[in-house]
Amino acid sequence: MLASSDAFRREANLIGGQWVGADSGAVIEVTNPATGEKIGTVPNAGRAETARAIDAAQKAFESFRKTSVLERSKMLRRLHDAIMDNQEALARLLSTEQGKSLAEARGEVAFSAGYVLWFAEQARRIYGEVVPSPWADRRILVTREPVGVIAAITPWNFPSSMLARKLGPALAAGCTAVVKPASQTPYSGLAWGVMAEEAGIPAGVINIVTGSAAEIGAELTSNPIVKKITFTGSTEVGKKLMAAAAGTVKKVSMELGGNAPFIVFDDADLDRAIAGAMIAKYRNSGQTCVCTNRFIVQAGIHDRFVERLAEESNRLKVGNGLEEGTQQGPLIDMKAVETVESFVADAVAKGGRVVAGGRRHALGGTFFEPTVIAGANTQMRFAREEIFGPLSPVFKVDSEEEAVALANDTEYGLACYFYTQDLGRAFRVMEGLKYGLIGVNEGLITTVEAPFGGLKESGIGKEGGHQGIDDYLDAKYVCLGGLGL
Ligand code: ADP
Repeated sequence: MLASSDAFRREANLIGGQWVGADSGAVIEVTNPATGEKIGTVPNAGRAETARAIDAAQKAFESFRKTSVLERSKMLRRLHDAIMDNQEALARLLSTEQGKSLAEARGEVAFSAGYVLWFAEQARRIYGEVVPSPWADRRILVTREPVGVIAAITPWNFPSSMLARKLGPALAAGCTAVVKPASQTPYSGLAWGVMAEEAGIPAGVINIVTGSAAEIGAELTSNPIVKKITFTGSTEVGKKLMAAAAGTVKKVSMELGGNAPFIVFDDADLDRAIAGAMIAKYRNSGQTCVCTNRFIVQAGIHDRFVERLAEESNRLKVGNGLEEGTQQGPLIDMKAVETVESFVADAVAKGGRVVAGGRRHALGGTFFEPTVIAGANTQMRFAREEIFGPLSPVFKVDSEEEAVALANDTEYGLACYFYTQDLGRAFRVMEGLKYGLIGVNEGLITTVEAPFGGLKESGIGKEGGHQGIDDYLDAKYVCLGGLGL
């Protein structure tokens, strides 16, 4: 067992089982968003290091692909145990570089372990098929094999669990990986390398490079050895990666942006809707792709909902994530603060009413007040753009049809939520919403057993669920002829 979070704070990249610096010796500084203090550095690697990591992954793949599913399942179980044995240290490291509250960080680490365990179990269910043959003397097999080397690029908002969703299925399938964590939160990504060593995962199966996104991304998307790119991040970058991956026809899985609506109908249970609203909006200080971007509230319940949401938002305890009891940490950086501020200014200029918060928090730095804006309309920027911060715009609507039309009026289609106690309405609305994830009377729905993934410009592919391993496998049709039957 590795006790302290410092044991995981690796200031090096992992390539072919070796912890190494960038060729140039250049580094990137990592800071704690709650204090602005420097935590340490990581290598500022580029194309050459990435190409070597890809070669190492390819070399490891030659033997890793031949391991049995039982061996891989056991490796993943050990990885799960290594994560949970070090949950507290990993959570502290995560909170220090990312800012989220310790309670949320502990939850994220447990969630990572949960994905690893799920895929340890799924490894043993990579079934092929024997298909009834139209020929008397031939037989048809469909086998499923690992795609090969995969590249994973992950964001700073869930620096641990976004990798779990990618490394879990990759290893279960028999693939090897090159990982690029976000530069703001590299330590929780590099910690996967430490954990892999603890779990006895062979050298070269997981390689981790930090540094220039453009350079590392260019190598990962153009190198023909890489067979699949899995990305979680903005739609803008996702589109670029898809275009770049087209050059060598790689498989792609994309978990991109969202613009989640949260609809409250007149017949909703108000207490339940408020509890769901708080978690769906303010988790990770509003910095998740499934966070509510637009509250859409029917006229009959609107005023009561706004009043309660403002009360609860004012009550949130804002502070350093490492302090027990903190519910809202800082935003990731000053750019994020300026973005949220600009959304508030834009809404106010177009007639929005600030009913809670609205400003930078008295704590200074990158802390922002949990904010509620009533009187939202479709001219305001957040009607189209992802907020990624603790700002709750409330749109007022009259009818069910209007609510659903407004909810769907976006190019995104990741998560949505709605509250009603009418069963018929629940089915009508569910069937009318063009979203990949739907919470009915629930504000927090992600779980390892269910497929997570967006529709429209929110992405391609699913993570978790039994579907989550499909993109890491190639199906092969084998026709066995001349059997003389
Ligand atoms: P966010 O807004 O969450 O930072 P991004 O899409 O900008 O979302 O970043 C998500 C991940 O993608 C990060 O690891 C980032 O470094 C990486 N990234 C950003 N631009 C590129 C690029 N051009 N090529 C490859 N990766 C990139």
